[in-house]
Amino acid sequence: MNTTFSEFQQKLVDIAQLKSAMAALNWDKDVFMPPKGSGPRAAMLSYLAGELHEKVVSREFLDLLRESKAAADSGALSEGESAIVREVWRDVSREEKLPVEFVKELAQVTSEAYLVWVDARQKKEFTLFAPYLKKIVALKRREADLVGFKQSPYDALIDTFEPYATTEEIAAVLGDLRNFLTPFLAKIRNSKANVRREAIAGDFDVEKQKVFCALVAKKIGYDFDAGRLDVSAHPFSTSFHPQDSRITTRYNPKEIIESISGVVHETGHALYEQGLPAKQFGTPLAEAVSHGIHESQSRLWENLVGRSSAFWTYFYPLLRNEFPAAFGNVSLETFYRAINAVEPSFIRVEADEVTYNLHVILRFEIERAMIEGDIAVDELPRIWNSKMKEFLMLDVPDDSLGVLQDVHWSFGGIGYFPTYSLGNLYSAQFFATARRAIPALDEEMARGEFGSLLKWLRENIHVHGKFYSAQDLAKRATGEKLNSKYFSEYITRKYSEIYEL
Ligand SMILES: [Zn+2]
Repeated sequence: MNTTFSEFQQKLVDIAQLKSAMAALNWDKDVFMPPKGSGPRAAMLSYLAGELHEKVVSREFLDLLRESKAAADSGALSEGESAIVREVWRDVSREEKLPVEFVKELAQVTSEAYLVWVDARQKKEFTLFAPYLKKIVALKRREADLVGFKQSPYDALIDTFEPYATTEEIAAVLGDLRNFLTPFLAKIRNSKANVRREAIAGDFDVEKQKVFCALVAKKIGYDFDAGRLDVSAHPFSTSFHPQDSRITTRYNPKEIIESISGVVHETGHALYEQGLPAKQFGTPLAEAVSHGIHESQSRLWENLVGRSSAFWTYFYPLLRNEFPAAFGNVSLETFYRAINAVEPSFIRVEADEVTYNLHVILRFEIERAMIEGDIAVDELPRIWNSKMKEFLMLDVPDDSLGVLQDVHWSFGGIGYFPTYSLGNLYSAQFFATARRAIPALDEEMARGEFGSLLKWLRENIHVHGKFYSAQDLAKRATGEKLNSKYFSEYITRKYSEIYEL
């Protein structure tokens, strides 16, 4: 092995150790930390962030990176090593284009903006948040100028979340998706089929829910010797290493599908992390490709598997046994329809599979126009509300149920939203391919066997880390570039049956 490269790789591992230590402290902060720990914890994290920054900008590290880049360019490194250099080079080059004062200003503005957003949302008053959002948009436009872009400044922002993707490509697939969803949703709304979400209402003991959710996670392949399931205010997943990937959820005593779906979603993220190659820890070859691909793994398990009739053919009898008062008189068919009920609603995170992407497309259109300078921040509530009317036929009653509902803009995460829909599209495309490779998939799932599906995902997605770009990975795994056809077909087949269209 090239000695420069092996020194470089060791530095990457050192950096990853620090990042994992910070992730573990952050996980503890959200799961176990007592209230008085918050001050000292912030100090700990800020100290470690400083150490991390110093390692990343150190002369030694940057020299090793440059020498490794030269080695890669001259063909002295293996394909895998070259991919590592390519990805680190990409990240560092972007960082180097941002002056320290810019980075500090953005951190300052976003940390204030987060608190203002929390307050504005609570008071349902967008005008409180608007001055901060104006600053963030101006900073993000400056970031795009500093980083550089080919066509749209929005390209430069998407790049942080979905490397190598462009505004134009995303606008094309989301445009196709919108053209499919709008008329399909209208058909569902006109259906007379008896699909009632209330059919699954009841009381659900939280301790019993915990046991059931853990059973589901284990059954679909989550390795509890390489992770934990805990409770937090907002469900999330985090990973310190492929051998330690954590998930959390929350439990509502009046609702059980929320916690099961939440756990299956986070398990999907964690299965990806557990499937990354441990021996490459610290390098991009043990990192997820992109936000879109990460979300494809969670949505595949949550929706294509976890809301399918095959999945519930196995799990429903077990669920009914645990909660006979709620489900004793509810048939599998009624239950299956209830958990797949389609109902336009204000809040994205509560949306069903059919309407969810319309929430995302709305945000994508708005933030793209905001960054390209076509709409002003003050116009957002009006534009948001008129799009909600157009897409979902809803009248938004106040800003907390509208433009203020998501945290993303407050932390400067402009360009993040489209990755949620890319995740849905990738998930359907991967699942359709896996189904062709595993002809008995439905029968297997109905018997509670998920191993061959997980194996397919491991071999085609997880094991590659960042070796390929998201686009190349999809092409390699499915034979086609990302498109909305598989998602549209999946939705049409499933919901035509449920809604008797
Ligand atoms: Zn997710």
